[in-house]
This record gives sequence, C-alpha cells and structure tokens, in this order.
Amino acid sequence: MKTVAIIPAAGLGTRMGRSAPESSARKQFLTLGDAPVFVQTIRQFVAARSISEVLLAVREDDRKEVETALDRETFAKPVRLAPGGNSRQESVRNCLAVTPDDVDIVVVHDAVRPFVSPRLIDQVVEQAKQVGAVILGLPAVDTVKRVDQRIVHATLPRESIMLAQTPQAFRTEILRRAYVVAERDGFTGTDEASLVEHSGEDVHVMMGSPRNIKITRPADLQLAQFYLDNPGEQE
Ligand code: C5P
Repeated sequence: MKTVAIIPAAGLGTRMGRSAPESSARKQFLTLGDAPVFVQTIRQFVAARSISEVLLAVREDDRKEVETALDRETFAKPVRLAPGGNSRQESVRNCLAVTPDDVDIVVVHDAVRPFVSPRLIDQVVEQAKQVGAVILGLPAVDTVKRVDQRIVHATLPRESIMLAQTPQAFRTEILRRAYVVAERDGFTGTDEASLVEHSGEDVHVMMGSPRNIKITRPADLQLAQFYLDNPGEQE
C-alpha cells in the first residue's frame, strides 16, 4: 500500500493582514520553534507510519527558500516539490499530476496546520482504505447563521454542522475522478472533499482535533506558540 501526502503551500496569505506577497509575510513560511510552519507540518507526515512520500506545492518564487529550509532537514522519506497554482484546488491538482500511478491513497493537508499528529494521520489513512473518502471535522460550538448583506437569513441546525479540517484522505482514483468532474463542470471548492461530494461520492467524517488549528490570522500564531510550548496530549 502506497500513500502520498499532498501539502499545498502556495497560498498568498492575504488574511494575515499584510498585502505584500513576499514569503516572509505568509503563514506557511513564518518561523514556529526551530523551523518554518510548513517544515513543522512535513515533519508530522514523515513521522506517520502510513505515509510513503510527501509532495509539496510551492510557488516558483518561493522554490529557493523552500529548498534551503528542506536541506536543513534529514527526512527519512522522499519530499518532492510540485508547482503551486493560483488556487488551492490548482495546487493540489498539480500534485496529483505528479503522483505515481501505483499510489493507493492520497492524503491532502494544509501546510498551515502543523499540529496534526502522526497518529491522527495514520487513522485517517486507515479509514480511507475502508470507506474511500474521509475528512476530519469538529462539531460547531457556536450557533451558525446564514447571512446575506449583514442580514441573518437563517439559523442552521447546529447538530448537523461540522467544521472541516485536514487531513482529508481518499482512494486515489476517487480524488482523480473528482478533479475530472470538477473541471468538466467548472466547479470550485475550498477543500478537496467538496470536489469529491460534487462527483457524487460519499465523504465520511472522523472527529478532528481542537489542536489541529489552521494558522490563518496573526492571533493564531500566539496560540500556535502556546501549543508548541505545551505539547500535552495530541488529541
Ligand atoms: O487559502 P486557504 O486558507 O484555504 O489555504 C489552505 C492551504 O492551501 C494553505 O496551506 C495554502 O498555502 C494552500 N494554497 C495553495 N495554493 C493557493 C492557495 C492556497 O497551495 N493558490
């Protein structure tokens, strides 16, 4: 069984409150502990027993900086680069294009979620082998409203809301087909599962981890530093 981790790391990070696209302003390149955020993320995947290889999507402009950071590491598994795209969907598609044909499972994970644990990765992969498509989700604790132009249009039943995290793992043929269907229909989504849903496949949900945060806004970095200083229980 071969499993490849696809890590899109080509975002421009506009929500960090800085408009400059230089790499130092983007969340995946910010330093967390002794390494950039994306390196911390890769370490988790290399440590996961189920993973054979890591594919990282990066912008051409960032390639040198990424290679320098990777050269400082001694990974026990291959870590290869693929071209980043203009959207996350495109970045993952570029990684899929260089995924070898004999790969059974692909697991996609945001570069900016460095607190995923190897154990959680292995569990998601194991589940994908059983059911074909699986994501992590956290139950909504807040009441969720559908809003248009600052007017509430509906209050959604909280019991049926899950907030999606990554990793999201799929049998390779399921994700490849979802990309073909999305392209045919001009469908875009903010995660890979939405493409798989659109293709008509069931996507299963496993309980995510509150520590598995997505470093998106400046305040998230403080929380990230806290988690780094307090490893505690992973899940
Ligand atoms: O944009 P979003 O917050 O969903 O980004 C999630 C992940 O996708 C990040 O790791 C980001 O670097 C990556 N991404 C990418 N290519 C893009 C946009 C986002 O690889 N064009």
